[in-house]
Amino acid sequence: LDYASYLKGWIRTVPNWPHDGVMFRDITPLLQNPKTFRVLIDIFVHRYMNEKIDMVAGLDARGFIIGSVLAYELNVGFIPIRKKGKLPFTTVEEEYELEYGNAVVEMHTDACKPGDRVVLVDDLIATGGTMMAGYKLLQRLGAEVVEAAAIIELPELGGGKLMRDAKVPLFTVCSFN
Ligand code: 5GP
Repeated sequence: LDYASYLKGWIRTVPNWPHDGVMFRDITPLLQNPKTFRVLIDIFVHRYMNEKIDMVAGLDARGFIIGSVLAYELNVGFIPIRKKGKLPFTTVEEEYELEYGNAVVEMHTDACKPGDRVVLVDDLIATGGTMMAGYKLLQRLGAEVVEAAAIIELPELGGGKLMRDAKVPLFTVCSFN
């Protein structure tokens, strides 16, 4: 059994949450088991340990869980990209579309420097709106996004394709159809 299939078995599917028709992919069982949590983090650590990385940026909120541990292991700093209204200092913001309405994510203007090589992480890519918004924020501050990385891709929702078409380097551990 390869690591991706092994980890997939620890992702729980919750039907009709947060609303009817959605199959929510819940990563809490994977985080709860110390072995699967370690296997997961090690996949990301091994992927980037021989690259020159300056920072890891994590998307609110599940991206913080993976991103902060990854940053610690790579011995680099961590950047939180947050939903609007949570960061205290001056921010850059990016609006993106949700199923119903819009959302805004923010990052501190001094979170990184031009030329910084950053890995951007979240738990899952659905339509790609969240990850693309994070990517745009980092680009606006002049960072180089080495890769956008997630545990899960939902190919049917098109986010992975959107990002690859936009020439954003993308890595996902597993996918659900
Ligand atoms: P997108 O912006 O790509 O449409 O949605 C991805 C964002 O919504 C991520 O931040 C992710 O945490 C959250 N999300 C959407 N659907 C799911 C899901 O089924 N499982 C999990 N764990 N997160 C989801």
